[in-house]
Amino acid sequence: MLPQDPSAEATPSPSERRETGLRARLERLPGVGSRRAERLAKLGLIEVRHALVHFPRDYKDFTGSHSVETLVAGEHAAVAGEVIDVGTRTTITGKAMVTVQLATDGGPLKGIWFGMPFIARRFRVGSRIVLAGVARQSSGYWEMAHPEVRHLDADEAAESSPWLAVYPLAEGVRQSDVRMGVHAALTAVEGTLQETFRPDELEARSLLPIFDAFRAVHLPASQKEIDAGRRRFIYQELYMLQLALRLHRRQAEVTHRAEAIDAAPHLRSRIEGVFPFPLTQAQRRVAGEILADMARPTPMQRLLQGDVGSGKTAVAVIALLNAALTGHQAVIMAPTELLARQHLATLERLLADHPLLDAEGRPLNTTVELLIGGQGKAAREAAFGRIAAGDTRLIVGTQALVASPPIFHKLGLVVIDEQHRFGVVQRSRLQQEEALPHTLVMTATPIPRTVAHAIYGDLDLSTIDEQPPGRQPVQTYRVGPQQLDRWWAFFCKKLREGRRGYVVVPAVEESESGLASIDSALEELANGPLEAFRLGLVHGRLPTDIKHAIMHDFRHGRLDVIVATSVVEVGIDVPEATLMTILDADRFGLAQLHQLRGRVARGATRGICAAVTKATDDHPRLEAFVNTTDGFRLSEFDLIQRGPGELVGTKQSGVPPLCLADIIRDADVAAEAREHAIATLAENPFLEGDDCSRLRKLVVRRWGNSLDLGGIG
Ligand code: ADP
Ligand code: MG
Repeated sequence: MLPQDPSAEATPSPSERRETGLRARLERLPGVGSRRAERLAKLGLIEVRHALVHFPRDYKDFTGSHSVETLVAGEHAAVAGEVIDVGTRTTITGKAMVTVQLATDGGPLKGIWFGMPFIARRFRVGSRIVLAGVARQSSGYWEMAHPEVRHLDADEAAESSPWLAVYPLAEGVRQSDVRMGVHAALTAVEGTLQETFRPDELEARSLLPIFDAFRAVHLPASQKEIDAGRRRFIYQELYMLQLALRLHRRQAEVTHRAEAIDAAPHLRSRIEGVFPFPLTQAQRRVAGEILADMARPTPMQRLLQGDVGSGKTAVAVIALLNAALTGHQAVIMAPTELLARQHLATLERLLADHPLLDAEGRPLNTTVELLIGGQGKAAREAAFGRIAAGDTRLIVGTQALVASPPIFHKLGLVVIDEQHRFGVVQRSRLQQEEALPHTLVMTATPIPRTVAHAIYGDLDLSTIDEQPPGRQPVQTYRVGPQQLDRWWAFFCKKLREGRRGYVVVPAVEESESGLASIDSALEELANGPLEAFRLGLVHGRLPTDIKHAIMHDFRHGRLDVIVATSVVEVGIDVPEATLMTILDADRFGLAQLHQLRGRVARGATRGICAAVTKATDDHPRLEAFVNTTDGFRLSEFDLIQRGPGELVGTKQSGVPPLCLADIIRDADVAAEAREHAIATLAENPFLEGDDCSRLRKLVVRRWGNSLDLGGIG
């Protein structure tokens, strides 16, 4: 069932609060009756306003002729009549054939279904139905094969709508119940609904007025009307979302100050000096955008996207050191402990090689605190003490950090690494008093700009669109059962030449037969193709310090191969590893596959990757993976492939799902709505005053909770 969209609901004016209007109970309306009203209540449809926003999930085409006398062979038609006979028989080819005979005003009509014996049960002799489909003539009689069927109630007119709305239902509720309820509701509110948009806004954006839009979605006369009606509500939903996102941000800017962290130019060049490589143009550009944000007294809320391996860590380090050198504390949060430890090592290595003097010319305390879940209590408390006292300025951690955060001395910046999930709410919850830290969110799962704006409407966007020099696209192969031996032979040959590599297995405990489970995979590999090599096993269940020790050995060449579950998926950076075997590759999502491949695209040597699969048929995802190494293109492909449902992982992020709009499908509507919202708020930054009170109410009612718009309401 579609969630109801209160933003599409019109607010009743005082005069409407009585019996008629939006809050009128459906049971009081002509034609509904108390029995039907009881059934409708099972869908939550109690008052008129509920019925109006119970949007159809589909439509049936009942266009065309309405009389047998005017039927044209091969053309679509819809004809009402009384069922006079229902028969089931078996054809010569052994298929069940159901035939329904209809008596209509213009003569007999037959509906025929093959291979669906159960359908006979749906018809009752004496009941009235409408058959809709393509008409044809057979031995002088008209018939329709597999027509759409509409069951008419005794009191229901057949020609109410040529396109018949099909509604989400609940147990014991019939389509005709909902149709009657909705029609009665429409009649009840005609001419009374308040419009959200001004006439010039409707005109400029080609939006149907509110009542017309409701009528168009519920009682459409054409496909065009359906589209126009839906567009109005989709537009409205996205417009409200954009308003909410921007208000959310505005509110944060006004109520939360941030420390303006403005590093002197000489500090910037010192910071850049810590890297053993020159920064790429793109890294320099986005670092500039970030430092400019940090220099302002409002909290930075920026999303940094860049393909796997594009060097986001270096950009993060610049921001972190910028904060630290000016006397602030800076935090970087990683999704896994392994990655947190890696960031710790990176920071320590860079700082050990390049001692830094801070703004006052004092050497920077280069201790980096690590805060992870598995840490002993004593270690944790000691770290908390140093952080509270302001002794240490750089802090690396996992989500554990948010769960029970330390008291900071002067928190200036929070970087969230490898955030794949879409969403507005999953931001820094680290905060102290009024000052919010500047926040930088990094992701390697890029999304098209229009989509990013729709979901992250309140975030600024920086994109690294360039890889460090000398990178070569990973050679990627699809390896089927027939080629597997040859692949292992090749893999081993490369290992013997001194290369290092990964073998990735889908999941730790996989009981389904035939799938590679990590233990048996390791055993098989250790006793089979990889017998001659030093293997390390890494999976999610392993204690972090052991995982870390294994990765350490691998990094330093004491292991040849890491056999792992997808814990190596994000962020792991061992530039010397250049071989990748992904087992049961069809079990991974595209973004994951690309992340995995990114592990072997980090050094000067060209990486080689095999997507091993038992699947023998066409596999669009694997095809795309093998054929392109551009993360942005893959991500677009992925968005389109996965389609609306899964796409916006709003479930995790806490944003209520959109009702009608789909961020990908409606990307252009979203862009328009965004511009509109920006224009609206440019005129009236907080939607204040009578002009906007209605809009403000709608936005707050719909998004207030999830976006914490308390200050606006
Ligand atoms: P990601 O964007 O996937 O997080 P990383 O930050 O882990 O990428 O960087 C990938 C690799 O590229 C690391 O080994 C890093 O040291 C290296 N690197 C980053 N920037 C540059 C650069 N400008 N020139 C050369 N190598 C770089
Ligand atoms: Mg990274």
